[in-house]
Amino acid sequence: MKTEFLKIESVRETDKLRHAGDVLRRGGLCGMPTETVYGLAANALDEAAVRKIFAAKGRPQDNPLIVHISRIEEWTPLVRDIPSDAAALAEAFWPGPLTIILPKADCIPDAVTCGLDTVAVRMPSHPIARALIRAAGVPLAAPSANLSGKPSPTTALHVLHDMDGRIDLIVDGGDCTVGVESTVVTLCGAKPRLLRPGGITLEDLRDVLGEVDVDKAVLGELDANEKPSSPGMKYKHYAPDADVKLVRGSTERFAAYARRYRQDETLILCFDGEENAFGCRTVSLGAPTDGRTHAQRIFRALRDADADGCRTVLIHCPGETGVDLAVLNRLLRAAAFQVVNTEETL
Ligand code: AMP
Ligand code: MG
Repeated sequence: MKTEFLKIESVRETDKLRHAGDVLRRGGLCGMPTETVYGLAANALDEAAVRKIFAAKGRPQDNPLIVHISRIEEWTPLVRDIPSDAAALAEAFWPGPLTIILPKADCIPDAVTCGLDTVAVRMPSHPIARALIRAAGVPLAAPSANLSGKPSPTTALHVLHDMDGRIDLIVDGGDCTVGVESTVVTLCGAKPRLLRPGGITLEDLRDVLGEVDVDKAVLGELDANEKPSSPGMKYKHYAPDADVKLVRGSTERFAAYARRYRQDETLILCFDGEENAFGCRTVSLGAPTDGRTHAQRIFRALRDADADGCRTVLIHCPGETGVDLAVLNRLLRAAAFQVVNTEETL
């Protein structure tokens, strides 16, 4: 299949948007810019189109998809009911990087939810994403537009790298501003529960809802036989080809640990001010506690490590507050939970 690449800079480019909408309505797959990461979109109400997403990504058949809408009214037909907690979250954070899980309506095909009786819905804030949904005239199911297991794409060229020849169209709407996938919260249990942290923080959710539980899988590793609340959280994920390790401890101890690795094959992801402490190539993720900047840079840095042929990526471990909880959640999976505590090992 030939993959078309279409730059759309403004919602006023109506001919291009109509073309992309036609591709989606006909059951095609389209790389879609959003504020979080690039999505791989298909008509959420077309079972055959949704199945193509799983094939293009090599996505496990038990990992459900998020349904994207352009206006709040479009939510009503997709779910059985919108409780007051859900309405309050949508009011506070939509459009934006928050996905809300509720019991599903019958119109949602099993292919979207992988047989679950709940559905994940989000209204993105990226103007081109919303214009694309409107042009398609249907809700769009869209996971991240990477090959399954690889770092998520934050530029249209990342999508081209992974999906060239596998999908009909890539819409280039510029670089993603959040840089990590949406926060996922479920309202299907007794209490709201955070399943995946993202650009809307746990603190933000608690401001609106009061109590919010945090799923064990957010920072913990599930046992092989444990059933996850969010199927996507069980897989090794977001990982470059290089071996990734998270490193805790001071700059000096990190630098001492890094000397165990070959300089020419190792990339260090550190914080501002640490760049010159290492003999290897370094990329700063931003100021030490600036989680929003860490999120913007992390997936690009992991992809660049592979493009540069690195064999090892050592990453200074971020904190657990604000958007850093999302960064840490992704990095633990990219590292397959390998964390080195230099205060103990050196
Ligand atoms: P992504 O492909 O990165 O957008 O992943 C979507 C995430 O949402 C995955 O972690 C899924 O497991 C999760 N998800 C989607 N639908 C549901 C659902 N109905 N219940 C629980 N988790 C869901
Ligand atoms: Mg993904």
